[in-house]
Amino acid sequence: MKVSDLLKNKGYETETIEPDKSIKEAMDVIVAKRIGALPVLDKGELVGIITERDIFRLLHKNGAGAFTFKVSDVMTRKLVVGILDDDIEMVQAIMTNNRFRHLPIMDGRKMAGIISIGDIVKSHVKNLQIENRYLIDYITGKYPG
Ligand code: AMP
Repeated sequence: MKVSDLLKNKGYETETIEPDKSIKEAMDVIVAKRIGALPVLDKGELVGIITERDIFRLLHKNGAGAFTFKVSDVMTRKLVVGILDDDIEMVQAIMTNNRFRHLPIMDGRKMAGIISIGDIVKSHVKNLQIENRYLIDYITGKYPG
């Protein structure tokens, strides 16, 4: 299975944020949309990523002062990205080896979407359920011949 298949099922819509927004604004989106990460776009170009983990660390270090920071102060700039043609297994390995849970997916120079480790687990569960169903039907003689 390819990243493009997973994105087709999940949808391409991605919440993003601009680098000059405040940490409070990033938190508002993360909480309201129940997501864990926001790709950072500057005039449409992907320049970084900020995740709940970055914000947690900032809060731990600065307490309430964290709210005054900007997204650009905290975001990770050295991005690892995937492309639509990548295999899910490879993308999963990239996230596991780098110890992060989010991967922006590029279509040329444009971001096509984002995949999280949760999306991959969900897709594995769905495939297992389908396989399970076929095996049960086979064992209980639902197929002719
Ligand atoms: P996460 O597990 O996704 O919350 O991210 C853990 C750390 O890795 C945070 O500092 C993120 O900013 C960073 N991070 C998350 N995704 C990526 C990515 N695709 N490329 C580079 N860094 C990332």
